[in-house]
Amino acid sequence: MMSVIFHGVRGSHPVADAEMVNFGGNTSCVEIVKSNDNGLKIPIILDAGSGLIKCGYALAGKLFSGEYSRSFPLLFTHLHPDHTEGFTFFTPNFLPFCEIYVMGMEALKQHIGIVLKYKMMPPCYPIEYEDLKSKRIHRILRDGDVFYITQEGKPVKTCEKPLFEVKVMQSYAPSHPQQGALYYRITDPADGSSVACIWDIESHIGGDVRVINFAQKADIMIHDTQYSDEEYASMTTPVQGFGHSTYSMAMKNAEKANVKYLLSFHYNPRHKDSFLSEIEKKYTGHNKFEFIMTYEGLCLTLEKGQIVKSEKLNLGFGK
Ligand SMILES: [Zn+2]
Ligand SMILES: [Zn+2]
Repeated sequence: MMSVIFHGVRGSHPVADAEMVNFGGNTSCVEIVKSNDNGLKIPIILDAGSGLIKCGYALAGKLFSGEYSRSFPLLFTHLHPDHTEGFTFFTPNFLPFCEIYVMGMEALKQHIGIVLKYKMMPPCYPIEYEDLKSKRIHRILRDGDVFYITQEGKPVKTCEKPLFEVKVMQSYAPSHPQQGALYYRITDPADGSSVACIWDIESHIGGDVRVINFAQKADIMIHDTQYSDEEYASMTTPVQGFGHSTYSMAMKNAEKANVKYLLSFHYNPRHKDSFLSEIEKKYTGHNKFEFIMTYEGLCLTLEKGQIVKSEKLNLGFGK
């Protein structure tokens, strides 16, 4: 049994707007968490958008109390600001006992830590990357990689009784501008439940064949839904080639991948709660899968491939 928690669901940039509080204004950050055999919670954190900041405040308390593992992976889909801007304010980075496996695509012909280091160079940030107290271990991920997360929260190539299996797919431009993005398929080997994480993708007419194969029969597909069909076809505000999908594209990929649940994610920062609620009405009721709009604080518990619990967590600062 694993849980999927949404700490940030926006794309492009964070927003603080009274008309967007229901879905939330923080950028991409998703936590997939499961207890090991001793009851210790092992999280996989995907992306370091601004949602990671709140995640980090809550996580720090759980690290001190012993509820969560002090060793865990932080997986990056890619390095655009809406997926990295929370990193510098991630509280566990300042805790010396914390061991963070920073994993992502090859960047500047080196590991992702190099890019994070440049982000924190003076005079742009008051603390340098090397001065962070946490221990950071860097790993480069490539298309087709498969690795496992141990009962201790460490990524390894082989493992007898892993807590998670992680498969990696890399898309390339023009699916997402410049280096593309990494997509992840995370499986709970204990009961076979799986989550395909597909965001920062501009899909194709009829679906993205590689993604459909990669996510085939996943229970949950979390998919980029930055644009409405009308916005994507707009002649006045062109967005084609920006590297994001429409709701219809997400529906097509989910349908052809035969998933049970399609989770809408990476919202346009201009989409207000009222607009997203209309979208929810429009797409709910699809007969091949259940359509779910994610929001900040949503926690879904997955058991044997079925969502058995859906709740809104209070993820406020300091909680
Ligand atoms: Zn993005
Ligand atoms: Zn991006």
